[in-house]
Amino acid sequence: MSEKIERLKTVIIGSGPAGYTAAIYAARADLKPVMYTGMEPGGQLTTTTEVDNFPGYPEGIDGPTMMVQLQQQAERFGTEVRIGMVTAVELSDETGGIHKLTIDSDKVIEAETVIISTGASAKYLNLPSEQRLRGGGVSACAVCDGFFYKGQDVAIVGGGDTAAEEASYLANICNKVTMLIRKDHMRASKAMQHRVNSLKNIDVRYNTEIDEVLGDQVVEGLRMVNNQTGKKEEIAITGLFIAIGHTPNTGIFKGQLDMDETGYILTKGKSTKTNKPGVFASGDAQDKEYRQAVTAAGTGCMAALDAERYLATVETPEEVV
Ligand SMILES: Cc1cc2nc3c(=O)[nH]c(=O)nc-3n(C[C@H](O)[C@H](O)[C@H](O)COP(=O)(O)OP(=O)(O)OC[C@H]3O[C@@H](n4cnc5c(N)ncnc54)[C@H](O)[C@@H]3O)c2cc1C
Repeated sequence: MSEKIERLKTVIIGSGPAGYTAAIYAARADLKPVMYTGMEPGGQLTTTTEVDNFPGYPEGIDGPTMMVQLQQQAERFGTEVRIGMVTAVELSDETGGIHKLTIDSDKVIEAETVIISTGASAKYLNLPSEQRLRGGGVSACAVCDGFFYKGQDVAIVGGGDTAAEEASYLANICNKVTMLIRKDHMRASKAMQHRVNSLKNIDVRYNTEIDEVLGDQVVEGLRMVNNQTGKKEEIAITGLFIAIGHTPNTGIFKGQLDMDETGYILTKGKSTKTNKPGVFASGDAQDKEYRQAVTAAGTGCMAALDAERYLATVETPEEVV
């Protein structure tokens, strides 16, 4: 006799700020949410030591502690947090349809609503010295960590719009910003290039890459190399920002959900609704613009409210026993 397939009202995929906020709202609305944490329980904030800009923490808080507190708050209202990856999905096209999720390439569960909070992963150069100093002065988020380098000399890697925007942001806070661009031109829009070039404390270096990030425990400098001439140069910096892009963790939804050309899930209007009824997307997986914990949390709240309203208006098929 085959085993009965578990049917859940709301499954939340991902355990970052978006997922936990969705869980708090969904649990309080009695949707009995079950969360799958994925490979990085707590999400991106578990990779940072200081979060200074999340409202409610006047002294700031370290990322892993904040995420444990969010988990505790979600569990307080009855969220069931399960360690596991959603490895495949079969999303229904029908209103009131049941979605099938495969967990760890093994177990299949059914969900009346699905909240996607799978986040995004920052791209790094993967140099050994860069990886060793992540959290010790190497960061992938200027808006998050730039403040810690106020009045200091920093460097940023990248030549696209995000890099140009982050370089301008850093230039307002820091003493000097050295911008390293691998090519002989900036990919950023003309307007962004103009902004960068108009800021006197940004030193743009074209055809330039990192040879090594210098420093033992924290970043103390950078050895750059000109990829045309091979000439190396060392500069003293305290912060290094990598701005070469993000990859949204949305691969398992490809072909089923509408996405932009870089894989961010598209949502309808101001809602978190995707093109599949009963499937909602929140956090960095659908936001390439802001990518902050507080905005992720905001859309997590919206996703739970959207799921609750959806369930109130549809009839779902009986469970097969
Ligand atoms: C170094 C660094 C410092 C930062 N500092 C700050 C800061 O100070 N302030 C701030 O506001 N923001 C900061 N950010 C940005 C912030 O971390 C993100 O905007 C936020 O975490 C996004 O939340 P999220 O819930 O959308 O996704 P994430 O935090 O990315 O979490 C995604 C979750 O989805 C899970 N997942 C992925 N795929 C699957 C799957 N198939 N099945 C199950 N689970 C899955 C992962 O395990 C993870 O738990 C920082 C980011 C970085 C990298």
